[in-house]
Amino acid sequence: MMDATQHTRGLQLVKRIYPGRSTGFMLGAISVASVLYEQNVGPGSWLMIAFSGLLWPLLAYWRACRSSNPYAAEKQNQHFDAAQCGFWTAMMGFNLLPATMGFAMLGMVLLSLGGKKRCLKGILVFTLTAAVTWLLSDIPLQLQPSLFTLLASVPILLFYPLLIGYSAYSFALAANEQRKQLEIVSRTDGLSGLNNRQHWEQRVADAFAQAHSEQHAYSLIMLDIDYFKQVNDHFGHGAGDDVIRQVARLLEECFAHDACLGRYGGDEFGILLPNCGAAEALARAEKARQHVFTYLHSQSPATISLGIAELDTKASAESYSDWILHADLALYQAKRQGRNCAVCFSQLADARLTAEA
Ligand code: GH3
Ligand code: MG
Repeated sequence: MMDATQHTRGLQLVKRIYPGRSTGFMLGAISVASVLYEQNVGPGSWLMIAFSGLLWPLLAYWRACRSSNPYAAEKQNQHFDAAQCGFWTAMMGFNLLPATMGFAMLGMVLLSLGGKKRCLKGILVFTLTAAVTWLLSDIPLQLQPSLFTLLASVPILLFYPLLIGYSAYSFALAANEQRKQLEIVSRTDGLSGLNNRQHWEQRVADAFAQAHSEQHAYSLIMLDIDYFKQVNDHFGHGAGDDVIRQVARLLEECFAHDACLGRYGGDEFGILLPNCGAAEALARAEKARQHVFTYLHSQSPATISLGIAELDTKASAESYSDWILHADLALYQAKRQGRNCAVCFSQLADARLTAEA
């Protein structure tokens, strides 16, 4: 059973195919009609070519849209497209111009829509229908196109490839847009809207690698919401989620213009500050703490504690995870000092010892 999203995607595909099918069959019918005219055929053939050129694309669209499985219905439509091309090829006595053109365009469309397998199936249907029609009728071979048929084929020769090219281009643009959206989703934390841990850590790792070749200072701030369990326990997890979102927005107000923010996990966040030494990072952390306190503390017991670690060239950090650990150690010290404050790793009494260890 098809779910609603698949059904909607199926309908989108049907809608995308409709303009190409209606234009192709209408212009193809003009080319076929020029041969039928020269063959002096009866009203039955004219009715059939009117069906193929005008009615069939609408019918195909209507039945695929009504179907509970638009993909399957559209596949059947494509088989019927192939059968009609085969039928008209035989009815025209295999007139080389419209027959080759119909075959090539059918192959091109089937290949672009369903790959090699769909294309081969279509060619089989085309060939069988052409053979059966040829065997059951007494139409003479008429391979050479007249000037009249050549002129009647100009519109499809001119416009159909342009249309196919345009729809392939639109499809590529839409696919590119989707790829970009996917990329954003894959690096974003769903609750806070900040970078997720994996992406943020990658940015920290990149900064760590660059810091050795550049002369710029980098600082890290790790921060954690204080008494967050109490928010969950007293106001519920929904309220806890709101606090995480609010803290993320408040941090963006303070840092987003030049820093890389991420949700490290639970109620912990990380901020990577390029071109920023420890003293400046501490001052900015203190400002952010006050900002969060002003906006949050009236509604909940939550405040924030922050730990700062600068990556200097005589760095004690041997890897980016060491650097994060240093900021984390400073954060734990801030918790020990009573929370709602900011501490720098270089201020820790045992920082040098830790670095040397
Ligand atoms: P401290 O002041 O020492 O930081 O203690 P705390 O109460 O803030 O608790 P701690 O940081 O140790 O634990 C964070 C809690 O956050 C644990 C977990 O139940 C909760 N939590 C983790 N992720 C989420 C989340 O996405 N939404 C909500 N509502 N709660 C979460
Ligand atoms: Mg906490």
